Amino acid sequence: MVKTYVFGHKSPDSDTITSSIVMANLENELGNADAKAYRLGNVNKETEFILNYLNMQAPELLDDVEDGANVILVDHNSPAESVDNLENANILKVVDHHKLALETSYPLFLRFEPVGCTETILCKLYEENGVEITKEIATLMLSAIISDTLLLKSPTTTEDDKLAVEKLAEIAEVDAEEYGLEMLKAGTDLSSFTIDEILSLDAKQIDFKDVRSIVNQVNTADISDVMAMKDELEEGINKIIEKENLDLFMLLITDIVNSNSQVIVLGKDAGLVEKAYGVKLEDNTVLLEGVVSRKKQVVPIMTDNA
Ligand code: MN
Ligand code: MN
Repeated sequence: MVKTYVFGHKSPDSDTITSSIVMANLENELGNADAKAYRLGNVNKETEFILNYLNMQAPELLDDVEDGANVILVDHNSPAESVDNLENANILKVVDHHKLALETSYPLFLRFEPVGCTETILCKLYEENGVEITKEIATLMLSAIISDTLLLKSPTTTEDDKLAVEKLAEIAEVDAEEYGLEMLKAGTDLSSFTIDEILSLDAKQIDFKDVRSIVNQVNTADISDVMAMKDELEEGINKIIEKENLDLFMLLITDIVNSNSQVIVLGKDAGLVEKAYGVKLEDNTVLLEGVVSRKKQVVPIMTDNA
């Protein structure tokens, strides 16, 4: 059987890590491939909480794949977020909930749905293929959906995500609300990170038209905890702007309890945030009420106004 690498994006989040494990398991259960999950970076605190809860090891770290290697992508499809030599790999499948950014010269299996989490799609794939969702698999799926949708409160949340959470919580035998909040809070512990690490934890390079940007998101249960580091964060951001030759760096400090984001914005095009949201930055920062989703409430609005 063909050896297949299954992985999600760089700067992995809980959806990326769990979807790799869950997708590899599906392929193996169906006898499609000799599939193995990998990760393209360090697991974050939240994912660590999930893996510890299940007594599971994180997938092996992958630097690159050999030319012609069979790969399955989950939770991403943009080559910029994937393994460095993706262009030489043979992509068999993609299961994702982001916008299509991939182009290949050959046909492949694509399953894209505009839902809140890749695991919601994988939950359907298990059911469609008659593969049993074990307690362990259900917990992985449930955790990722809670993570990506911030306990079903993010505007990316769909009816399908809600149905999946209901079903999976029952199989996983957990109270989704209680387990979810504990898991999200575990992910907000920044105490062991350096400023540089905080600034790269969930950083995505996104160009708003020709405004070269990085948007980084940090979840917290208390915005003031993170804002206490504002000076150091700004210093770090300015270094990144210079090094990466950016026009804009936007740090979202997202309050997972009250569903708001305080943003710190630097760079010569920082005014784009003021224009996009009709706000005034004071001291490079402003509270964006109700903004929690980078994908739905930042990327489209910033792109439209760029
Ligand atoms: Mn992700
Ligand atoms: Mn995701």
